[in-house]
Amino acid sequence: MSLLIKKFGGTSVGDIDKIKNIARQISISKEVGNDIVIVVSAMGDSTDQLSSLAKSISINPSKRDLDMLLSTGEQVTIALLSMALNEYGVAAVSMTGSQVGIITESVHGKARILDIKTERIKDYIDQGYVVVVAGFQGASLSHNGSMEITTLGRGGSDTSAVALATALSAESCEIYTDVCGVLTTDPRIVKNAKLLDLISCEEMLELASVGASVLHPRAVEIARNYGIKLYVKSSDNDKSGTLLQSKIEPLKLTRGSLELTKTVNSLEIVEQQVVVALSNLPDKPGIAAKIFEKLSEAEINVDLIIQATHEGKRNDITFTISKDKLQETIKQCELIISELGGAYSFTNDMSKLSIQGAGIMGRPSVSAELFETLSKANINVNLIATSEIKVSCVIDIKDVNKAIRCVGEKFKLNSTQIYINPSSKVKKEEPEVRGIALDKNQVQVSFLNLPDKPGVAASICLSLAEANLIFDTIVQSERTTKINKKDISFTMSKDDRINADCVFESIIKKLPGSKVEDGPSIAKVSAVGAGMAFKVGTAGKIFRALANQQINIEMIATSEIRTSCIVLEKDCDKAVKAIHDHFELYK
Ligand code: ASP
Ligand code: MG
Repeated sequence: MSLLIKKFGGTSVGDIDKIKNIARQISISKEVGNDIVIVVSAMGDSTDQLSSLAKSISINPSKRDLDMLLSTGEQVTIALLSMALNEYGVAAVSMTGSQVGIITESVHGKARILDIKTERIKDYIDQGYVVVVAGFQGASLSHNGSMEITTLGRGGSDTSAVALATALSAESCEIYTDVCGVLTTDPRIVKNAKLLDLISCEEMLELASVGASVLHPRAVEIARNYGIKLYVKSSDNDKSGTLLQSKIEPLKLTRGSLELTKTVNSLEIVEQQVVVALSNLPDKPGIAAKIFEKLSEAEINVDLIIQATHEGKRNDITFTISKDKLQETIKQCELIISELGGAYSFTNDMSKLSIQGAGIMGRPSVSAELFETLSKANINVNLIATSEIKVSCVIDIKDVNKAIRCVGEKFKLNSTQIYINPSSKVKKEEPEVRGIALDKNQVQVSFLNLPDKPGVAASICLSLAEANLIFDTIVQSERTTKINKKDISFTMSKDDRINADCVFESIIKKLPGSKVEDGPSIAKVSAVGAGMAFKVGTAGKIFRALANQQINIEMIATSEIRTSCIVLEKDCDKAVKAIHDHFELYK
């Protein structure tokens, strides 16, 4: 007999008919002889309604009260679904997170799951019950044994489901939702978006963290770490949906660390890198496309690509290549410069350092901690490119050992979590772009004319993190036109920008000569594909797709399997469609 975990999202349990319908489906599945645990969200948009009730009383309610309130949404659904199941003759029992024993850290509003006590729920399963569990919630235990209700963060019931699948060693975990699975992009933007049968957890993690809302990124991370067979399916039909596959050796579940309590999951170093900076290029559509197409024709695989904001009508683009391609790259740079103007320079003997983990999302302090750790060890950071779940920077090769020691220690990583010059396990036939996500409602902010010395990025990120401002896509590029000066740009939500003025002022005061510049309303378009890491020329194709539509790229930040372009908000739907068409993802 297999144990199946089935999770139903808010829209799937949006009204009584839908709840009855699920009960009917479950009764059939139970008849086949499966053991079933169901995890549910709050009905429809009831979590939103509860939080607006709170807002109508206080702009800043206590986080504990808020958890107390929001956790009631799921409690309504478990009771109703259990009643419906019993009406259909299926023995069912409802359980809150704390009744199950979903033990979390003791923070409110975004707690991570430490442990799930399985005795009580297993007992019910053994007696033949279908157990209906409230998602999104758990309980923290203080040292004196008192219990507090916690929630996992918005969208967190996916995480409850995959965590339960892990703790109970379930056969599979199925997430039922209002779309038919994971699509190549948002079908509201691109009509012919296509259902994916398969996607790797790594790719899904990148997509989920930049706006593909079909799955909670932490749920994907758990599935990846423990090798859980995770499906995303429609609750309206019985089509097979999308299967997520983990590409890593599954970890062993140890007590107290189900969702790795560490925010950072791994450290990666790639040595023998050269940083190439093209500066003073014209700023107009098609320039990035031209450059990376040229490099791709010469079979040069570029890794990090960074384009920060620009002053006036000129632009800088910086990228890294591996050292063995240096001569060929110089040749191409000469050609590029003779055609477009500008200048190029390169810095040899560099290494790329990246930290990764879904826990980085929404915790701006992590990048600050990384930069601070490096700066305390007197290691200068040359380039920075961050995504929500990853922070990459370039350091001098002579600092690598020191960096591994201090960063490893800072984030408590053991040797199995540190990868030095990893070789890609990705198969050649993986697509270079599998899906595209869009993150809207952002603005771009730049700090210009910063002194180029250790500790500057750290102090900026720290100040922002202390003010609880969440910022993404930090890029720091080199400026050959400004000796000993650097610029750092990043994106943040429009809501956060409104409250940021006084933090910005205090940062500028500490760094004489620097200034802040607000960019326009922008959106981030991210293309993700496992094949991108080793295929030559993907970036060039993405930039070409945008150039063909006359879309100017404001900022570029890449990580191995993702290329993100910041474009003006007005262009964003067109940009998604252009890339989707260019890679023929509808096929
Ligand atoms: N009900 C919670 C929310 O709306 C959790 C979830 O649906 O996953 O965020
Ligand atoms: Mg959800």
